Amino acid sequence: MRKPKLLHAMSVTTSLTAPVDSLKKLGLTSFENVHYQLSPDQLTEQAVQRGDGVLNDTGALLINTGKYTGRSPKDKFTVKDALTENTVHWNDFNIPFEEKYFLQLKEKMLVHLSGEELWVRDCYACAEEAYRLKIRVINENPWSNLFCYNMFIRPEEKDLENFEPEWHIIQAPSFKADPAVDGTRAENFAVISFIHKTILIGGTGYTGEMKKGIFTILNFVLPTKAGVLSMHCSANMGDAGDTAIFFGLSGTGKTTLSADPNRRLIGDDEHGWTKDSVFNFEGGCYAKCIDLSEEKEREIFNAIRPGALVENVTFIEGTKTIDFSSKKITENTRVSYPLSFISNALEPSIGKTPKNIFFLTCDAYGVLPPISKLTAGQAMYQFISGYTAKVAGTEAGVTEPKSTFSACFGAPFLPLHPAQYAEMLGKKIEETKVHVWLVNTGWSGGAYGTGHRMKLGYTRAMITAALEGKLDNVNYEAHPVFGMMMPVECPGVPAEILNPRNTWADKAAYDAMAKNLAGQFVHNFEKYASGANEEILAAAPKL
Ligand code: ATP
Ligand code: MN
Repeated sequence: MRKPKLLHAMSVTTSLTAPVDSLKKLGLTSFENVHYQLSPDQLTEQAVQRGDGVLNDTGALLINTGKYTGRSPKDKFTVKDALTENTVHWNDFNIPFEEKYFLQLKEKMLVHLSGEELWVRDCYACAEEAYRLKIRVINENPWSNLFCYNMFIRPEEKDLENFEPEWHIIQAPSFKADPAVDGTRAENFAVISFIHKTILIGGTGYTGEMKKGIFTILNFVLPTKAGVLSMHCSANMGDAGDTAIFFGLSGTGKTTLSADPNRRLIGDDEHGWTKDSVFNFEGGCYAKCIDLSEEKEREIFNAIRPGALVENVTFIEGTKTIDFSSKKITENTRVSYPLSFISNALEPSIGKTPKNIFFLTCDAYGVLPPISKLTAGQAMYQFISGYTAKVAGTEAGVTEPKSTFSACFGAPFLPLHPAQYAEMLGKKIEETKVHVWLVNTGWSGGAYGTGHRMKLGYTRAMITAALEGKLDNVNYEAHPVFGMMMPVECPGVPAEILNPRNTWADKAAYDAMAKNLAGQFVHNFEKYASGANEEILAAAPKL
């Protein structure tokens, strides 16, 4: 028997009928089992009833995404056609796909889905109405649809009457491609067609493919058609209306550091910068759960409640309490929730022109300073480089740092040449005189193995100091190899950790590691050097 609360939720949405005509046009043939625009309560209840998921002791829905617990960049394709042939920067992340295979896959997917129980949701991307993208998502299970409710912008009921979607996401984890005839690499795929305005996702249940699919589209459309700089960054705003944005690759701290109870959250991952605003593309956050604790990340911890969708976590044995330390299924455990689950989230998610930009890097070599100030040239050099270093396991079970250079801190999601985004950012830095900081949220006191990760509390204190102008009137020293300016003092942070060399017991080892990392930067930059001006080239580390 249904709980009364859910009956109520049901009655709220009964006025919404599935847009059958337009689904027919899309190519679906059967509509008896289409659930349209269900509420989070209903989706959660259905997921539990179907045995897709369970509730934890705080009422969030826990599911497993299946074989894939992360994105699969090698299986993400873009249809090469008249629109994209000469505009998309074809590379390892923008892999060309023939239109005939796209059409064939779409057809097969629609056949696969017809007659099945489906969950359809209409939603938006882009908080700024002028750039709003109308999206219709078609899922084959309720929790994937809950993800879309959480992550995209939720239309009001009145906006649904004449909702004409511009883009479609057709997502069917149970549909497997046949690489021999479908043009894919494997049975899983995410294919984007800019002409057909459709994203096809099959063979994988990893929800993040949907959000990063839309992000990829916006990274094409906004800079080319609207003159808006699209960015892989989080954003928040102080009481005085001062906006800060935080660029960084995965795991560097965008979500963690933007959820600051003393500031209004704009968004945790994807934003656009217009001539006078910064706006969120999304309606929710997608936070990492590994080692999540109430003490260190209260805002995110408290977001794990009814309506939240928690992926690939396990319980502490014999309880319904999530074991956040467990990597049993994956290290990439995640939770999605609407922005409003963070206290102080800004609504609508639109801030003013940024006063501060933070480039976050998680430097597992322990070389880069925990906070430093960049000149415009250094900022461009760092933006184009897009450096972070992960801790990578090797066969012998030994772990060591492995660098990643990902242009504009987001190469996997950028259809255009990085120079196009870099040029736009360069102009904005020049025009707005925004302060640019580099923050190393990674290792201190030695590389991974010897040192330790920077205390989250210290990183937060450094960012707060920068935001409050407390680093404006302190002395700085230049990093001898990388050149960025390191403050010699910072409120709430021991002065001796501000210069990374001080924190290494073995200074010669630090110097050698700094030289090694500088060499990696220089080598990586070779491919961009011909397109970079004097000022940017002068910001290269000195070998
Ligand atoms: P993604 O693009 O994959 O969403 P992200 O940039 O949003 O990645 P976060 O989700 O914020 O990354 O992950 C940062 C992780 O590092 C969190 O699990 C956080 O607890 C941990 N962490 C540890 N020390 C620090 C630190 N000093 N600063 C920031 N994060 C830290
Ligand atoms: Mn994030």
